Amino acid sequence: MTATPDDAEHPHVIRMVLATANADKAREIRDILGQVGLASGLVPRPDSIDDVPETGATLEDNARQKAAALCEATGLPAIADDTGLEVDALDGRPGVRSARFAGEQASYADNVAKLLADLASVPPGERAASFVTAAVVRWPDGRELVARGEVRGTITSARRGQGGFGYDPVFAPHEGDGRTFAEMSSAEKHELSHRGRAFRALAAALRDA
Ligand code: IMP
Repeated sequence: MTATPDDAEHPHVIRMVLATANADKAREIRDILGQVGLASGLVPRPDSIDDVPETGATLEDNARQKAAALCEATGLPAIADDTGLEVDALDGRPGVRSARFAGEQASYADNVAKLLADLASVPPGERAASFVTAAVVRWPDGRELVARGEVRGTITSARRGQGGFGYDPVFAPHEGDGRTFAEMSSAEKHELSHRGRAFRALAAALRDA
């Protein structure tokens, strides 16, 4: 790949394949890594590579599996994340099953509807939850870097906002001003979000590696 002005400014930029098949997550990861000058080395996930099933017991296991599969398939370092919403009143569920909370083929809308239904009798003061992201870079020689990002918030009683994706319309971060992630700009979300925190930590670790 030819060097871009960004590469020249940031000599630590390395070529890495982005392991996620989720376009919303890929967009956010590019945005966040772009803010720290690391997006120019990202290679999109080749369409020819099959989905990696999420069979791990933890977010970190799943992120590792995705990064390892893409690394093996492309011969490039790979970067992956896995994210879960851990709701206190549901003993940490849906957690690692967040994408499949309402069923194997569940849409974002199905998952949000199930979450609101499961919490219907839970009062506002008891609706705290954490969004957690595990982010991994894996190199072809087996080396790995792992980082984690977390944000505490409240599950609202109804959807609010048009931005973001997934559970964003029902998650209001405690460090915010009461708006849900879906009511914020992307930059506002990234500043507080699980993914923003995980990938900024990963970028810092990459610089030190
Ligand atoms: P995944 O397993 O990392 O793909 O994510 C699990 C599920 O969590 C996704 O299907 C989304 O519904 C949800 N999710 C992941 N990241 C976010 C986010 O930043 N905001 C809202 N929902 C998210």
